[in-house]
Amino acid sequence: MSIWKIPLFEPDIAEEDINAVQNVLTRRWLTMGEETLRLESSFAKKIRVQTAFAVSSGTAALHLALLALNIQPEDEVLLPSFTFVACANAVKAVGAIPVFVDIESDTDWTISPEDLEYKITPRTRAAIVVHYAGFPCQMNRILSIAQRHNISIIEDCAHALITQYDQSYCGCMGDIGCFSFFSNKNMTTGEGGMIVTQNDELADRIRLLRSHGMTSLTLDRHQGRAISYDVNIPGLNYRIDEMRSALGRSQLKRLDENIKRRQNIYKIYMDCLSGLEAVILPFTGRKTDKIGFHIFPIALAEGFSRIDFMQALKEKGIQTSIHYPPIHLFAAYRNSSESEDRSCPLTVNVAQREVTLPFFPHIREEEVEWICQIIRNGIEHGT
Ligand SMILES: *Cc1c(COP(=O)(O)O)cnc(C)c1O
Repeated sequence: MSIWKIPLFEPDIAEEDINAVQNVLTRRWLTMGEETLRLESSFAKKIRVQTAFAVSSGTAALHLALLALNIQPEDEVLLPSFTFVACANAVKAVGAIPVFVDIESDTDWTISPEDLEYKITPRTRAAIVVHYAGFPCQMNRILSIAQRHNISIIEDCAHALITQYDQSYCGCMGDIGCFSFFSNKNMTTGEGGMIVTQNDELADRIRLLRSHGMTSLTLDRHQGRAISYDVNIPGLNYRIDEMRSALGRSQLKRLDENIKRRQNIYKIYMDCLSGLEAVILPFTGRKTDKIGFHIFPIALAEGFSRIDFMQALKEKGIQTSIHYPPIHLFAAYRNSSESEDRSCPLTVNVAQREVTLPFFPHIREEEVEWICQIIRNGIEHGT
């Protein structure tokens, strides 16, 4: 039993999801096979991308992206500090140097194109950009900077499933897009992810790198298409399995419906919380009809205590969270980002004040209104 009346997140698992997984177990082909191929082609079609490879996690997708781009030790990779630490850990995993970039402003928490360009050096090879909370980064500006300086762009779309920017979906604009199907993402396979690209050469490398660099898969050999294999590049095992792929396929079918629910919940929060002196709502003024909202983040105005705020909600049984503590302030990253021109002052300021409220497709409208009411009351009484 959960200690929360309203948890931060609850996955949407339906009867058909359970059946899909059971069917795989009954058929007894468990490693990457037909279900995975079907998930990949449905996903690619959905976001109109040329190739999609299902993988074991979003972190695996990020790591594969850096390997496919042949990022070498001592290369520099730009990324926001205001994101999940997986992005920086993947950079470290290939021996490269993460260089942290600030957010755009107090209320636009995506990466700043200006700061990104400012932090480019002759050693910069790539940038990871994160579509925070589902809001797209300023891709036009980012892509033109990337072209000018000849650096690759990896889009971290863990929050942006499914988000449109101009005519494209997030994940299809940079060189590589990385998605996560972790339990709390907009669709889930428990653990899992997807890596996508429009580039054939990168696709060939990703295909090999996902499975030890081997030129044939277990399925090919099982189906008699191959009896042996060569190893072209040293890869890893970042394969997904058929239970997860079946779950993913079933989840993908309900994704649009769940995003509509998310859009509705988002709107209720925005209406109920607007006009409060203590609550700053980010991304106001952005068009919202093509956003696959992932989390509902707010910032408290200067002078309000986040600990008290979170505690007051906790006492009512409402779970909240923080997205994110800045990566460059974590013990493992502090030393690599101490020099002044690597600082991220806006990130540090906003990150101290950010609170994430409960947000998931099946939260009830009354529950959202109740949360907002508690926030309003609390603030009136001076928390
Ligand atoms: C969830 C997440 C990841 C990592 O995905 P996993 O599937 O958990 O490995 C990476 N980046 C961001 C922004 C995320 O939210």
